[in-house]
Amino acid sequence: MTVRTRIAPSPTGDPHVGTAYVALFNWVFARSQGGKFILRSEDTDVERSSLQSEQMILQALRWLDISWDEGPDVGGDYGPYRQSERLEIYHEHASRLLDDGNAFYCFCTPERLDELRIAQRAAGENPGYDGLCRDLTADEVTRRIEAGETHVIRMNVPEEGVCRFTDELRGDIEIPYSQIDMQVLVKSDGYPTYHLAVVVDDHLMKITHILRGEEWINSVPKHKLLFDYFGWDMPAMVHLPLLRNPDQSKLSKRKNPTSINYYRNVGYLPEALLNYLGTMGWSMPDEREIFNKGDMAEVFDFKRISLGGPIFDLEKLSWLNGQYLRALDAESFMDRIQSWAMNRDNLQRLVPLVQERTERLADILPQVDYLLGDRRDLTPAKFDHKKLNAEQVVQIIDHLSRSFDELRAWEGDVLYECCQNLADHLGLKFRDVLAPVFVAISGRTVALPLFDSMVFLGSDITRVRLREALAVLGVSGKQRKRHEKSYRAYQVWLRDRVNDVS
Ligand code: GLU
Repeated sequence: MTVRTRIAPSPTGDPHVGTAYVALFNWVFARSQGGKFILRSEDTDVERSSLQSEQMILQALRWLDISWDEGPDVGGDYGPYRQSERLEIYHEHASRLLDDGNAFYCFCTPERLDELRIAQRAAGENPGYDGLCRDLTADEVTRRIEAGETHVIRMNVPEEGVCRFTDELRGDIEIPYSQIDMQVLVKSDGYPTYHLAVVVDDHLMKITHILRGEEWINSVPKHKLLFDYFGWDMPAMVHLPLLRNPDQSKLSKRKNPTSINYYRNVGYLPEALLNYLGTMGWSMPDEREIFNKGDMAEVFDFKRISLGGPIFDLEKLSWLNGQYLRALDAESFMDRIQSWAMNRDNLQRLVPLVQERTERLADILPQVDYLLGDRRDLTPAKFDHKKLNAEQVVQIIDHLSRSFDELRAWEGDVLYECCQNLADHLGLKFRDVLAPVFVAISGRTVALPLFDSMVFLGSDITRVRLREALAVLGVSGKQRKRHEKSYRAYQVWLRDRVNDVS
């Protein structure tokens, strides 16, 4: 048997360090077995997926020097490797499940499902589909489909019994079917859900081992049922421990930069970041801290993976990065500086901003210092403003920081709209709202245009800087509570505003 592993990112945002972490372990395990590593783009969430995000993920993984044997860009014998290009395959398989009585059409409206959920919660039950449409007659189903009623396809789940499976790291796991919902497999837009697509693709792509984050363990019963319904063997399951913030919570962009782009932009070396990810839940038999993915592959063994939630700690990563930087010879160090900041891509984005404002080339560096490196130190005094009191300054940064956390598209006009909305809501001048943001981002009161700067820096660095500004301004617990409340009121105001317009 040839070992085949895969990474299956959903291209719905910035490339996440968690994706790189899972990719590393999949790559290492495949290499250690002389197997193949596959990349599949799981883009069935039409609204949230984008090709741009897929490109960014592929680029970030390439930057980390993780390569795949098959994938949307390189092709392979089991393609296409983008789920949106495999819809027919999913439909065929959904029909097979329907024909065998393992799935059924469901016509329940979102309103009915909401009511059901509320009633179940009130009765202290697990929310889940109650099976109403499971017992419809074939004639009725045909009649309703022909009448054009919106419908989905759901899977059957036994009402009783227990699903048993083995996780290579955790041993035998049992989950009662009563906890498993009759999962939607095909949505009303005709797209499959993750659960159908993942099972069909893992089988057709001959995946032998599924290494992924532990947040998917509870989905295994659904997947196992589907594998059984189709009469297929389930690949071996290996659920890796989740990366955590230093406070033990799941690594999240609200607390830690999670985009690989952040780490590239602030000057971590790809091999240092990858090495660091290799220490998450894994240690080399000789306990050495500096190693590469080839070293890992030579000695790889699931038994060495420990399940205690590994902490993703920036200080530790910086220490490791320093080791790598200092070990470079001067030539390579120069190359790194060049490729980190003075690369063509960065220059192409900076030149339109600085050219007009430059009389001597020497003027360039002071203009872009906060874009290429850290911004100057912040002090509370830097935020003093004629038109804003201290409370307003904090409120502006707090609310924008929260809005930015929720954004999917990081584009100038979207950021502009966020600031404009907040200015309208607070009854302040647009210009005045921008002032503290300007300081938070650049550390000064005069800098290159704000929105261009935030786009250049990217979402993670921008959001980190806003959070740091709040820390410098010293927000008390009480103040934070007040702002949480006022942010909620702002959200309600925003929703009403959107409804008024539409
Ligand atoms: N598309 C899923 C994700 O974004 C893949 C999960 C899996 O590996 O099965 O994480």
